[in-house]
Amino acid sequence: MIEFHSVSKQYSADATALREVSLNIDKGELVYLAGPSGAGKSTLMKMIAAIERPSSGRVIVFGQDIGKLGKPGIPFLRRKLGLIFQHQRLLNDRNILANTMLPLLVTGAPKAGAEQRARAALDKVGLLDRAKAHPLELSGGEQQRVAIARAIVNRPQIILADEPTANLDRVAADKVLDALRAFHSVGVTCLISTHDEQVLDGAARVIRLEHGQLVPTDRVGGAA
Ligand code: ADP
Ligand code: ADP
Repeated sequence: MIEFHSVSKQYSADATALREVSLNIDKGELVYLAGPSGAGKSTLMKMIAAIERPSSGRVIVFGQDIGKLGKPGIPFLRRKLGLIFQHQRLLNDRNILANTMLPLLVTGAPKAGAEQRARAALDKVGLLDRAKAHPLELSGGEQQRVAIARAIVNRPQIILADEPTANLDRVAADKVLDALRAFHSVGVTCLISTHDEQVLDGAARVIRLEHGQLVPTDRVGGAA
């Protein structure tokens, strides 16, 4: 479902984010992308969403070469992805139900149907009882779960979560991870990045990046 073939990314002459990365992620897999800050995790995820393009090598998502994707192809690709990126803040001027409905409304979905889908999404992350609350009334972990609800309300086939547990305490982080794992258990392909080794406890597959390169791990597929 996601293939990297000898992918390198150079932002500038002295900023190489990825070096010759090759990997495969199959439909339905839950994969953790581990590595310290600056290792290239965000860059790798941005390439899957065509936010960044490879400098060399090929990135294939849903069978499509991302490097060759034209402008019209990008919204079609992104609609099939649920993105949970740190800079994508919730809108503080509206409640969390309205925040969760937004991705549906921008694609022109009828309001009643969108509200029903948004409620279902909030229910899946355990926040349906907070539907009328505003983002600033929620804890950091709850806000992150709203971001997950908003990312999955379009029923994406792939979820990309970039450091979803950053700045959360252990209890809140576990709830966020549980919410993500629940989507994996219903067949959604999930890629979760983290610099926190504790997040990797019990992970079936870990891909580890250091200085833009894959490093072997003792877990399945690490050196793929
Ligand atoms: P991580 O997500 O693991 O923290 P990133 O992919 O954000 O790593 O960054 C990898 C490297 O690429 C870092 O050295 C970072 O400074 C650099 N980098 C990331 N984005 C840019 C950019 N837009 N321009 C220049 N350098 C960048
Ligand atoms: P991160 O939180 O991963 O470090 P940044 O805050 O550095 O990401 O944002 C990197 C760039 O990617 C920004 O210019 C942002 O607008 C862009 N970006 C992220 N997600 C999307 C998206 N879904 N559609 C368009 N651009 C996006």
